[in-house]
Amino acid sequence: MTDSSIPETEADMSGATPRRRPKTPVLEVGGRRLSPSTLMMGHAFDPMLSEGSLKPPIFLTSTFVFENAAAGKRHFEGVTGKRPGGAEGLVYSRFNGPNQEILEDRLGIWDDAEDALVFSSGMSAIATMLLALVKPGDVIVHSAPLYAATETLIGRILGRFGVTFLDFPAGATEAEIEALVDRARAQGHVSLIYLESPANPTNALVDVEAVARVRDRLFANDEDKPPIAIDNTFLGPLWQQPLKQGADLIIYSLTKYAGGHSDLVAGGVTGSKKAINPIRMMRNTIGTITDPHSAWMLLRSLETLELRMSRAGENAVRVCEFFRDHPKIESVGYLGFLEPGTRQRDIYDRHCTGAGSTFSLYLNGGERESFAFLDALKIAKLAVSLGGTETLASAPAAMTHLSVPDARKQELGITDNLVRISVGVENADDLIADFEQALKAV
Ligand SMILES: *Cc1c(COP(=O)(O)O)cnc(C)c1O
Repeated sequence: MTDSSIPETEADMSGATPRRRPKTPVLEVGGRRLSPSTLMMGHAFDPMLSEGSLKPPIFLTSTFVFENAAAGKRHFEGVTGKRPGGAEGLVYSRFNGPNQEILEDRLGIWDDAEDALVFSSGMSAIATMLLALVKPGDVIVHSAPLYAATETLIGRILGRFGVTFLDFPAGATEAEIEALVDRARAQGHVSLIYLESPANPTNALVDVEAVARVRDRLFANDEDKPPIAIDNTFLGPLWQQPLKQGADLIIYSLTKYAGGHSDLVAGGVTGSKKAINPIRMMRNTIGTITDPHSAWMLLRSLETLELRMSRAGENAVRVCEFFRDHPKIESVGYLGFLEPGTRQRDIYDRHCTGAGSTFSLYLNGGERESFAFLDALKIAKLAVSLGGTETLASAPAAMTHLSVPDARKQELGITDNLVRISVGVENADDLIADFEQALKAV
C-alpha cells in the first residue's frame, strides 16, 4: 500500500459498500422500532447480493478488484481521508472487508451508536484508540483499577513516550473526580478520560454521569474537550450503555460476552462518527482490524447475545443467593446485592439494567480454602476469562493479579480467599449442586 499516513480530516470513513447492505434496510415494522436482538439476524446484509446465501459468506481475500481506475482513485481518496465522505468501496483487507463491516453495523446497534470498529483483540482496540488520541506530553485521566494490560499500556508503555496519567478510584464522588481532573489540567494537556466500570475484580462502579459533568464544566471553554472512553466489557452491551450517560467511546473485549463461546479473541469500539474517525485512520495505518473468520463467528454470536446474557444473568442471581446464605462464605461481591441508599447502588440504578454474571466470592479462610474449592469443581472450569457459555472460576490473587504489589492487592480487596466466578448458561440447579459439593471439600 502506498499511503499509510494519517491525514487530519473529519471525513466520514464509514467504508460503506452498497454491495452488501439492503437498499431499504428494515429498521422498523408498522411504526415499531425493531430491537437489537431482532436486527442481529439480518441487518446490513442482503442475501440476494450473495447468491441468496442466508448467512454472509466469509470473504477470504487480501484485496478487492476495482471496477475501473477512476473508482480505485476514488476509493483511495476515501481511505486516506483526502476526500470527506469516506471509503465508498472495498480496497484492501487491512482497511475493511464485508464481514467486518456487517459486524460493525450490527455491533453499533446495541449501543445505539453512530459508528463502530472491530479489532483483532480488546487490547488492540484499546492500543489503537490510545495511539490515535494521545501524544507526548499529554495527560490521561483514568479510573482505577483497570484491566492489568490496560494499566501496563497506559502506565509503562505510553510512559516511555512522555505520556503521564492521574487516576481516581472507581467509586469516587463527583467532587473527588473534579479535584483530580483539575490537577491533571495543571499538569498538561488532558487528551483522554478513560474509564472501566465495573472495575475488575472489585466490581466498583464509576459514576459516568458525574465524569461527564466534570469534563463539560472544566473544559467548557476548550475546543478540544477530552473524549470520555469506557471499557464496557463486563456489563455491555446488554446491561449498560454508557453513551446514554455521556461517554463518547465504548470499548469492548468482544472475546467475552459478545463472542460468548470462548472460541475467539476480538475487540470493538463504538461511538459517534466524530470520535471514531481518528481511530479508524489509525487502524487503517497499523492493521489492527479483526480477520474475516472471527468477524463471521461474532455475527453468529450476536444472534444469541441477548439470550445468552439474559440466561447467564438469571443463573447468577440464583447462584449468588445460594452463596450468600452458605456458612463457608464470608461475602459475595455481586452488583445485585448493593445496599439501597449507598452511592454504589445509586450509580447502579442510574447506569445499569442488570447485575451481570461475573462476581467475587470471598470464602472463610485463605489460599488453602479457595484452592480446595477450585480443585473440587466438577462443572465449572478452572480458567480465567468471562462471559462464555460455560461457567469459569479462578483465584485472582494467584493468577490474573499475581504480579500486583501486596499493598495494592489489599487496597483492591484481592485477598487469598477471593474466587472470581463468571456464570454461564448451564442449568442453574446443576451449577448450585456443583458449588455445594465443592464447598464440602473446603
Ligand atoms: C479481557 C479484557 C480486556 C482485553 O481483551 P482481549 O480481547 O483479551 O484483548 C480488556 N478489558 C477488560 C475489562 C477485559 O475483561
